[in-house]
Amino acid sequence: MQTGRCQVCEEQLGSRTHEFYSRTQKVVFEGKLKTVTVLYELQEMSFCGQECWEAMEKPIMDGLHPLYQQLHPVAKCCECQAPVDRTQPHYALYVGELEDVSQPWLASMRILDEREVAVFCAECRVPDGDLAAALGLLTEENDSVAAAESEPAKKLEPQS
Ligand SMILES: [Zn+2]
Ligand SMILES: [Zn+2]
Repeated sequence: MQTGRCQVCEEQLGSRTHEFYSRTQKVVFEGKLKTVTVLYELQEMSFCGQECWEAMEKPIMDGLHPLYQQLHPVAKCCECQAPVDRTQPHYALYVGELEDVSQPWLASMRILDEREVAVFCAECRVPDGDLAAALGLLTEENDSVAAAESEPAKKLEPQS
């Protein structure tokens, strides 16, 4: 994962990088405790550091609003501003600072810091394949809860 070059300045990446990635996640809220379950993660871009990430941040985020929301049960879609139920699988963009702590026998990354950049509703962004799988997983897991809020999920069926 760390053999590439910075997306902006093309420097060889060192052990500390800024990574831009997308996730399909869902969140369980239990009182004050929030547990984010990552169903699928895809690395989008790597940067050698904060400065190069910031150089790309604007073009990537252009037109998206709101950004950097709190982890509330209902988020806002950054494209259409529709409410996004975080207890259901949803698509989000992340940026993180990672450190390569690989040992010769084990590749491993430590997350030093990460922030959720933006959240999308199911209408605006459906990642290939994984979300359908995630929804299948969800109906098995808690049928009764999912049934009450199944309206947005239905629209995710592939129409092809
Ligand atoms: Zn760079
Ligand atoms: Zn939307």
